[in-house]
Amino acid sequence: PSPPKHAILNGLNDAQRRAVSSDAATVAILAGPGSGKTHTLTARVAWLVDHVGFRPEDVLVATFTVKASREMKERIGKALGNRRENKLILGTFHSIARRYLAAYGRHIGLSQKFGIADDGDSRTIISRICKRLQLAVDPPVARAWISKKKAKGTEAESKAAPQKASKAPGLQELETCYQEYQKNLEASNLLDYDDLLVRCVELLKKFPSCVSNIQTVLIDEYQDTNGVQYELMKLFAQRHRRITTVGDPDQSIYGWRSAEIKNLWRLLEEFPQTDQISLEENYRSSQSILTSSLLVIEQDKARYKKALKSVHNKGSRPVLRRLASASAEAAWIVSEISRVLMMSGSMLTHSDVAVLLRSASLSRHLETSLGKAGIAYKMVGGFKFYERAEIKTLIDYLRIIHQPENNDALARIMNVPPRGIGDVTIKRLLEEAETSSLSVWAVLSKHCRGDRTAKTKILKHAEQRLSGGLLRPLDDIRRRIGGASAPGGAPFGLVQVIEQLLDKLNFQKYLQTTYPEEHDHEQRWANVQEFISLAADFVRDMDRSDDDFLPEIEGLQQTKEIEVLPRFLANVSLASDAQTGGDRQESKPQVTISTIHAAKGLEWPIVFVPAVYKGSIPHKRSEDDDEERRLLYVAMTRAQSLLYLSCPNTSGSGEHTVLSPFVDPIHRAFMKKGPCFDRPVMEEIARILRRKLPPESAIFKSLPAMFSPEDDLFPVDPEESRQDTRGGFSRGEGGLREDASRAKRPRIHGPS
Ligand code: ATP
Ligand code: MG
Repeated sequence: PSPPKHAILNGLNDAQRRAVSSDAATVAILAGPGSGKTHTLTARVAWLVDHVGFRPEDVLVATFTVKASREMKERIGKALGNRRENKLILGTFHSIARRYLAAYGRHIGLSQKFGIADDGDSRTIISRICKRLQLAVDPPVARAWISKKKAKGTEAESKAAPQKASKAPGLQELETCYQEYQKNLEASNLLDYDDLLVRCVELLKKFPSCVSNIQTVLIDEYQDTNGVQYELMKLFAQRHRRITTVGDPDQSIYGWRSAEIKNLWRLLEEFPQTDQISLEENYRSSQSILTSSLLVIEQDKARYKKALKSVHNKGSRPVLRRLASASAEAAWIVSEISRVLMMSGSMLTHSDVAVLLRSASLSRHLETSLGKAGIAYKMVGGFKFYERAEIKTLIDYLRIIHQPENNDALARIMNVPPRGIGDVTIKRLLEEAETSSLSVWAVLSKHCRGDRTAKTKILKHAEQRLSGGLLRPLDDIRRRIGGASAPGGAPFGLVQVIEQLLDKLNFQKYLQTTYPEEHDHEQRWANVQEFISLAADFVRDMDRSDDDFLPEIEGLQQTKEIEVLPRFLANVSLASDAQTGGDRQESKPQVTISTIHAAKGLEWPIVFVPAVYKGSIPHKRSEDDDEERRLLYVAMTRAQSLLYLSCPNTSGSGEHTVLSPFVDPIHRAFMKKGPCFDRPVMEEIARILRRKLPPESAIFKSLPAMFSPEDDLFPVDPEESRQDTRGGFSRGEGGLREDASRAKRPRIHGPS
C-alpha cells in the first residue's frame, strides 16, 4: 500500500516514510551512517504525536548525547508547533533516569536531594579506598570492574550467576572495593552514572505505575545501549510494548562501557513481530568519502552487511598525508583550514570544520597552532570544561550549598582558596565523620559551634577560619535560595548565587595569587565568566520550556523539583560525561575539536582525522581492534565533502610511527597533494555552499556555472600512480593520486 500523505513525510525517501509511518508496535531501523536514521526517528516522533495522536508527555525519546537531544527537540518543535515538544520525555538515558528518580525516588528510599558523582568523582573515591584499605588492585581497573558489574543489568546478572562463581585472584579485593565505594556514595548521598540507571530500574520494577502513561519509546544510537539500558527501555515500554530503535552495529564504539551490540539481536528475538527497516541511501557524504569509509569497515569480516550508497556525486577524494612531526601535522591542518575557507571566498566559516581525535591528549599541538593563527575553536568531549580546576572548585561549592553532606566535595575545597587548613585537619575531620556516621559538614559544624561532643582535636585557628570563611558564607547563601520566604530579602537566582560565591570567596584575588602569570589567571577568570554565562543560559532555557516535569500519575506522589540549583548541577554532571561537552550557542564561528566518541551522530562539511597511526588508532591500550576500526569508520563518516586523514612520522612522544593498518585498503583510493589551488576542492566547496545557501539566492544560481559537478577532474595517470605505490607512504611529501574509480570498489551487499 502506498504510504499516507502528510507534511511530516515530505522530502523523505520511501523507506524513510515507511519507517516514520509504520503501524507496527516495534520498529527496528538498522542502517549505515548518514542514511537519515536520526532524521527518520525525529520525524516518527512528530508523526506519532501529530498523526497518531499520542500526547507528547506520553512519548519517551532517548538520545545518546545531550547535544543530540537538544537538536532533536528543536526539529520536532518545528513540526509540532505550539511548544508541544517541551512536554516530550526526551534526553539521554541518564538524564531521563535522573528525572524519574528526582520525581519518585523517595518511594525507593532515595533521599530527595541526591547528587550525582561524575566520572572524576568516582575515580577519586575509588583511589582513596584502594589506598586506605591497601587493596592490591589498580584503581582504574577497579573502577571499570565496578561499572561493568552495574551496567550489565540485573537480568544479565541473574542469568549468568549459576554457571560462574569465579574465585579469580583479586576478586575478593574488587568486591571489597565495590562495597566500600557504595558505602561512600551513600554517605555523601550521591549516585554515580551507573546508579542512575540501576536505581531507575529498581524504581520502575517496584512502581510500574510511574510509567503507566508511556505510550511509546524511541531510541537513537541503539547499538550503544548496555544491558541495564536495555532493561530500562523494556520497563519504560512495559505497558504498551511500543518501541522504535535506530542503530548501526558498525558504529558501536562504547563496548568499553559495556555497550552490547547483541542488544540488537535480543530485541528481534524478544519482539519477533518487529518491523525491520533498512535505509540504503547516504545523504551525508560524497561518494568517494563513503567508498573509502566502507573499504575500512569491510575489513571486519564478521560484520553484519548492509547496503549503502551515496546520493551525491563522486566529489573530491579524501586526502591522506604524512607529515614530519605532530607539530608539523597541526600546522598543516591549520594552514589547510585557512586555505579552504579562503577559497570559498569566506562563505564557509570555521564552524564548517571539525578535527576529530582518537584521544583528548592529542589536542595540544593543535590548540597551539590554532591559537597562533588566531582561529577560534571549541573543544567537545573528553576535554571537560567542567574539570578545569577553577570551575571544578566552583561546582564543588555549589554542590555543598545544595547538599552539605557531599563529603568529597567538601574535602576538596576545605583549603581552596587557601585558608591555612592542613591535610592533617582534613584527614581528622574525614575520619571523625566516618566513625560517627555523620557528614563532614555536620562534624565541622559541631566544631565550629564549640560542641563538646566533637571528638577530634583540630586547631582553634582552623576552626575559626572554617567557620568564618566557609560554613557561615555558605549557610547564608543557602538560606537565601530557599524560596520567596527567605529571610533577608528576595531569593537568589542561580547567577546571583555564583556571583555571591565569587564575592565571598574573593575568587578573582585567589586566582591572581595562585596563578601569578598574567595570561594564566586571566584565562581562568575568563573561564569563570563563561561558567556564569552557562548558568544564565541554563536558567533561560528552563524558563522557556513550559514544563519539565513528568506527567501526573494517579495514586503516585511526585516530588516537584522546582529549584534551579540541583537541576543545574545535574546538568553539569551529566554534561561533563565524556560523550558531551560545552556546546553553548557560539558567538562567533569556531572550529570544533572533538573526540571521535563525542562526534557520534554529527556531521561537518570538512573533517580532519589526525594521528592515524598504530598505537593511536588502534589505541595501544585497547584490546578490541574491531571496535577501534569502527571508531575510524565513525570518524570518516562524519565528513560531508572534504575528508583529511594524516599521520606524523613521529608521535608526540618522539617515537617513529607506523601508519594504521586500518587504512591499508584505501591507500590507493586516496589522493595526496600539496597545498595548491585545486579544482576538486573548489567543486566540493561549491557543493557545500549549494547545501547551505537558499536556492533562490544569486550565489547559489551562479554556482553551477562555476563548477561542473560531474567533471572527472583527475583522469588517472597510470605511470604516476605506479610510482607512487612503489614509493609507499612513508616517502613524505609528494603527490599520490589516483582516480577513485580505479580503486577497489566497495562491495555493496544486500541485507543477509
Ligand atoms: P549517523 O549514523 O551518523 O547517526 P544517521 O543515519 O542518523 O547518521 P542523519 O544524521 O539522520 O543520519 O542524516 C544525515 C544527513 O542527511 C542529515 O543532514 C539529514 O538532514 C540528511 N537527510 C536524511 N534524510 C534525508 C532526505 N530524505 N533528504 C535529504 N536529506 C536527508
Ligand atoms: Mg544519527
